Amino acid sequence: MSNTAHGTPAGYVKHYADGQKPCTECREAHLAANRDHRQGKAKSARVPAILLAELYLNASPEVQVRAEQILGTSRLESFVNRYDAGEAIAA
Ligand SMILES: [Zn+2]
Repeated sequence: MSNTAHGTPAGYVKHYADGQKPCTECREAHLAANRDHRQGKAKSARVPAILLAELYLNASPEVQVRAEQILGTSRLESFVNRYDAGEAIAA
């Protein structure tokens, strides 16, 4: 396994992508991340892109600036363009 740190959820996925069983460190990181997610303690969450665009457009200017800093304006712009084009939210 190269370019991905062991002991991370990404490492867990990489093991399978490489056709390997995950090592103990990666398996434990994966289980811990799943546990955090189930308990609402995750540091981030997957959100459908179109829903994110809708939330962004309805956010205060201060929150919009923060979203741009964290997510990047070009990515947000492409999501907003898709939202404006009428793309449905895929759950
Ligand atoms: Zn590993």
